[in-house]
Amino acid sequence: MAAAIILSPSSTPTDYFNVISPTLQIPSPDTGITVPVGILACQRDPFLKKIETTVIACHVSQPPSPPTGKKTKKAVVAPRLPNEPILEIVLHDTVIFPEGGGQPTDTGLITTSDGKAWLVLQAKRHGGHAVHYVKITEGDLDSALSVFAPGSSVTASLGPDDFDRRYDHMSMHTSQHLLSAVLETRLNLPTLSWSLTSSPSPCYVEVPRGMTVEEIRFIQSEANKLVFEGRRVYTEVEELDRDKTVVPTILESGRSAGKGLPSDYTGGVNRVVVIDGVDRNPCCGTHLPTIHNLQLFILPHTETMSRSSTTSARLYFLSGPRLIGYLTTTHEFLTSTASILSCGAPSVPERVSQVVDERKKAEKRVTDLELELAKHISSGLYHEALAGSVNDGYIFRKHLRRTDDSGNALGLLSAISVAFSEQIANAQTPYLLVLTSTPSAQTTNSTTVVMVIGSDDKEVRSVGDSLKSQLGVKGGGKGLKWSGKYIGVWKEKKEGGLVDDLLKDVQ
Ligand SMILES: [Zn+2]
Repeated sequence: MAAAIILSPSSTPTDYFNVISPTLQIPSPDTGITVPVGILACQRDPFLKKIETTVIACHVSQPPSPPTGKKTKKAVVAPRLPNEPILEIVLHDTVIFPEGGGQPTDTGLITTSDGKAWLVLQAKRHGGHAVHYVKITEGDLDSALSVFAPGSSVTASLGPDDFDRRYDHMSMHTSQHLLSAVLETRLNLPTLSWSLTSSPSPCYVEVPRGMTVEEIRFIQSEANKLVFEGRRVYTEVEELDRDKTVVPTILESGRSAGKGLPSDYTGGVNRVVVIDGVDRNPCCGTHLPTIHNLQLFILPHTETMSRSSTTSARLYFLSGPRLIGYLTTTHEFLTSTASILSCGAPSVPERVSQVVDERKKAEKRVTDLELELAKHISSGLYHEALAGSVNDGYIFRKHLRRTDDSGNALGLLSAISVAFSEQIANAQTPYLLVLTSTPSAQTTNSTTVVMVIGSDDKEVRSVGDSLKSQLGVKGGGKGLKWSGKYIGVWKEKKEGGLVDDLLKDVQ
């Protein structure tokens, strides 16, 4: 038997848009009435990139200043409106989708009769109409109002970037319908909400509970079986009868599963998006005419969300161009890591764990060696102190200088000070020590660690205070120990010499 080859259509099939009511008419341009949201050109033909149409209304508005205070976690951030006057334009019909159904606004262009292309920054649904927010530059206002006078002919279009953005939105939105349907029918999991996040982030559906990796793999496989069958997607529209519209189910938790028709919608059309044999869903979004090529990848874990009284979980997914983008970047991460580790990609996890293991061992060895070194250094200091203590009234005063590029220079100084304090305690020789540790190469941001220890807390404090006031060392201490940091270039002659002087001056 010959295999059936199903190709993705490059234009929208004629059976995508179906008016199922004998009385529903799409207003024609000469009526001067707008085509309502629900049956706009972008909703009748999602691949249409350009439409010649007429201006119904145009007025200048000042966009409201962006809300201050708490930021809402909005899905895709709509392109920012400039803080200057803009035109709000209603066209007879449009290929520029106004945000709705969880799908963000399109961006696009309107070309006027003088050949000028005007940027559409956003499109929004006001009641039942799509309103285009058009950018005007200073000095353009008068000419704009004349070319956008009601009745003027214009062309609304999606440029290459606008269409790429829309194609990504369509892929993610149609995949969400498929995913939600499979979750519902295979695992009885309703979709509480979903978010079409900005590319390249994965989108998510919110379900009432967390899911196991096995469940996620099962759902992915069930969804992709339908994808490989290339199930058809189409829409059905009829006049809106609010008494017959589907009201979202309220779950035991009090959350509703999905959203109903927006209460401010006055377009008068009921639109259902159908995935053949899989799902029927009231929705105003633009959808691809087939799920063929929409392979679904679900991230194999759910993220638990806690609200005041209920918990739910987010399930993240990717498909279409966003999935290709994700594969490309993750592949780049993997190959660059493999090249750093000089191994093949499949060996990366094993090599990384080896490197981490070796590093832990090396760190432990450094710590052990530093402790040994600290004892060695303190023992030298102790013998120096003992040699001096044969003289009456002797105080062992010393500035111990170290050059060290360790990330924890203070650790070694502390180890030396502890070892020395223990050793000298029995000898009862009074002492005052300043320990400094400087990196080998210095810049204005370098840190020199300074530590003061002594047998007299007043002397320790006095040296600490002087280090603060005379050298700008930031630090503090208690009792017989003081420590701080000096930021900048520490010169042995200048800063080091000043420490030597301080030690001499202490009474
Ligand atoms: Zn939808």
